[in-house]
Amino acid sequence: MDNARIADRLDAFAALLELADSNPYTVRAYRRAAEVIRATPVPVAELVASGRARRLRGIGPSIDARLRELVETGDIAELAELERRLAPSLVGLGRYLGLGAKRSVEIAQALGVRTADELRAAAAAGELRSVPGIGPKTEAQILAGLAREAEPLPRRALLLNQALELVGGIAAALGGEPAGDVRRWRDACERLAVVCAADDPAALLERFAGLPQIVALVEQSERRAVGVTVEGVPVELVAAEPGGFGTALVRATGSAAYVAALEPLPEAAEEEAVYRALGVPFCPPELRERPFREKPPPLVAEADVRGDLHCHTTWTDGRATVEEMGRAARDRGYEYIAICDHTPAVGAVPGLTPDDVRRQGEEIAAANEALAPFRVLRGIECDILPDGRLDLPDDVLAELDWVQASVHGGQRMPRREMTKRVEAALRHPAVSCLSHPTGRLITRRPENALDLEHIFAVALEHGVALEVNGLPARLDLSGEHVRDALRAGLRIVCSTDAHSVRGLGNMTLAVHTARRGGATAADVVNTMPWHRE
Ligand SMILES: [Zn+2]
Ligand SMILES: [Zn+2]
Repeated sequence: MDNARIADRLDAFAALLELADSNPYTVRAYRRAAEVIRATPVPVAELVASGRARRLRGIGPSIDARLRELVETGDIAELAELERRLAPSLVGLGRYLGLGAKRSVEIAQALGVRTADELRAAAAAGELRSVPGIGPKTEAQILAGLAREAEPLPRRALLLNQALELVGGIAAALGGEPAGDVRRWRDACERLAVVCAADDPAALLERFAGLPQIVALVEQSERRAVGVTVEGVPVELVAAEPGGFGTALVRATGSAAYVAALEPLPEAAEEEAVYRALGVPFCPPELRERPFREKPPPLVAEADVRGDLHCHTTWTDGRATVEEMGRAARDRGYEYIAICDHTPAVGAVPGLTPDDVRRQGEEIAAANEALAPFRVLRGIECDILPDGRLDLPDDVLAELDWVQASVHGGQRMPRREMTKRVEAALRHPAVSCLSHPTGRLITRRPENALDLEHIFAVALEHGVALEVNGLPARLDLSGEHVRDALRAGLRIVCSTDAHSVRGLGNMTLAVHTARRGGATAADVVNTMPWHRE
């Protein structure tokens, strides 16, 4: 049994434990163990057999026992029992149709069906009405969903990092390319698609249906299928003729408006060939949100980035020390990193007092000695108080290399007050950059009421940069706002707001969000060497 298969079974176990309302810590422990096993270079089955599996990070005695059972018997008995009882394919299909997990299982039990296909047949035969609690409205909703009367979209958009993981995992398993919203790096993804070149589409569709991520197919034709995850999220698979792979990839990448404006598309095996045949310059997927036929600007690339200007440490709510963050940034090939911990007004965690800032400065100086010529910059993520003042005295701020100004509390202020509050901070001579300017949390909290056009003008006047925050739930500025900021003459900073070494990886999301706004390397402050002394 190879590592991928072992990890898949642990992931499946975690998903079912979650459905069965198990302890969330247990669920997370299994997910983490799966992740570790997937990344382990040696065969985990051998480690298990020789009693050495517990040397792997995150494998405790209970997971070790499950691994032993899996390697020795080929499966985990409790997992097989949960699969029988909970019918993940029905749960996935039910969620896709807008039903809760428990409700899906209840309906399946009432109808005596065990698979998604049986549910479909029972629904078609009009049996849903016999289930207690299902009225004509719910029946109509389920039948409409099963009949696929609309584009298969999730009920709630996925954050980009979740969508990347899901679609990327499926594409890698099938040897295909991620497409849909993910490939355009949309901040909230709805259309999830994978395109594969297939001489034998039937075999490919079968492999797709057998993936651990996919619990049921809701649509299937010769060269296309739509599967759902146990969360009910639909993923489309396109099994392209090898000679038409490029064309299929353009179509599945979208957006619909962009593709419609290019039609009719010629058949080609590669995407570049489609563009050549059209006589249109190749268009990076990030710029395919609306019709575009011109020569694209040379968009910023992740390799252009020389430093990260917003990260946290154990001084506030980060998980790594100053030196660990510095070392990790250096290992990524950066030249500098700015440590920007919180100030007291942030509330959720204890922020740095002026005293703390100076003591942290000593730690940063020591890290600089250890890591030279790499530079660890003294920064701060300073709260903008409701009246527009900053949360640290001027003399402390003046000592720092880089000051991010942030609105955290009191985000429901009326537009005029919020705009005045942020404007006052931008006029402060110490401020270098406005963090997560709109304050939105994708799918959870709308943008703050803020006159961005005015804020952009003030930022330009005072030489303040605007952040593109790479936290998956923020991506703030959005690509759309980046475009407006650049048009206003501003420069942006691609930052991660990392709270751990791993968080530095969100630079990918920040850079691709900037690319959606048409940013080139010259527009991005942290593609430049650190110059200020
Ligand atoms: Zn913040
Ligand atoms: Zn932060």
